[in-house]
Amino acid sequence: MSPTPFSSSPCVALNTGLQMPLLGLGTYKLCGLQDVYRAVDAALCAGYRAFDSAAVYRNEAELGKALRALLPKYGLTREDVFITSKLGPKDQGEKAMEAALHSWSQLDLDYIDLYLIHWPGTQGLPVGDERNPGNRAQSWASLEELHGQGKLRNIGVSNYTPAHMRALMQSCKVPPAVLQVEFHPRLCQPELMSLCKQYGVCFQAYSSLGKGELLSDPVMLDVAKNCERTPAQVLLRWALQQGVPVLPKSSNPERIQRNAEVFDFTLSETDMDRLSVLDCGQRFCWDPSEVA
Ligand code: NAP
Repeated sequence: MSPTPFSSSPCVALNTGLQMPLLGLGTYKLCGLQDVYRAVDAALCAGYRAFDSAAVYRNEAELGKALRALLPKYGLTREDVFITSKLGPKDQGEKAMEAALHSWSQLDLDYIDLYLIHWPGTQGLPVGDERNPGNRAQSWASLEELHGQGKLRNIGVSNYTPAHMRALMQSCKVPPAVLQVEFHPRLCQPELMSLCKQYGVCFQAYSSLGKGELLSDPVMLDVAKNCERTPAQVLLRWALQQGVPVLPKSSNPERIQRNAEVFDFTLSETDMDRLSVLDCGQRFCWDPSEVA
């Protein structure tokens, strides 16, 4: 299989030898064909070539449908886009194979570029339940099998802690290609980042904008003003400049366009440091540290 070029979008090489665009559109809370279609249209127009969905977002079918309809408008084919989806926490363990195949058929795009275990725990079990590790291992084995069949071109995990990552690296046949976690100046995750580097796993950011809440941070506003960029562009650039792929979500075509304008400027070392010192372990999403 030759690496996919994703012509207009800068990429990172994954440990499978395949490429993943550094910029993708987050789709959490994009619901219904009309909203998904509008966002995907704006994103393709702005140069996004990656889209991040999940079974729990309930928009896989709409995303697949929108892409099949819109790719020809931009002279693009299936091979020009990179689609991520995720196994829901309710399907960890013995239901994983069926659930992953359901995602695959909902998207209906021949293959999924990246399929992640969304969360280390199993819905319905207490976080500290000793059945969680076994369920994760069973889910991973199912993903490995579907990867072998070519239905999932890359497989990975999300919200794993360093302990979950170490256990997976010890037991897996296929190593994860990606770890997707919350990452922004207030949550720099240095241990996970260096572990990923050591294992050759791509560290990918979600909630780069702190779900929108970081956009009004005074430091962000000041750096943005000084470099004549938007706070969102500064936050995305801060991650990209560390080699971290990002998935900003917006339902607004104008913001989708502006969030993509992040490859034509550089933050100074001083500005990078001004943001990085804001690390205080603050999460805008959930905390997986208690999951057994
Ligand atoms: P985010 O991208 O940090 O922020 C999205 C919010 O910011 C939305 O409310 C959006 O509103 C607003 N926004 C976006 N661009 C803006 C701009 N230029 N100016 C002003 N407001 C702006 O939040 P997120 O959705 O949590 O994270 C992004 C993606 O990461 C998700 O959609 C999902 O794909 C993925 N994710 C994965 C996990 C996981 O467990 N693996 C968890 C969370 C997220 P509008 O839509 O109105 O523009």
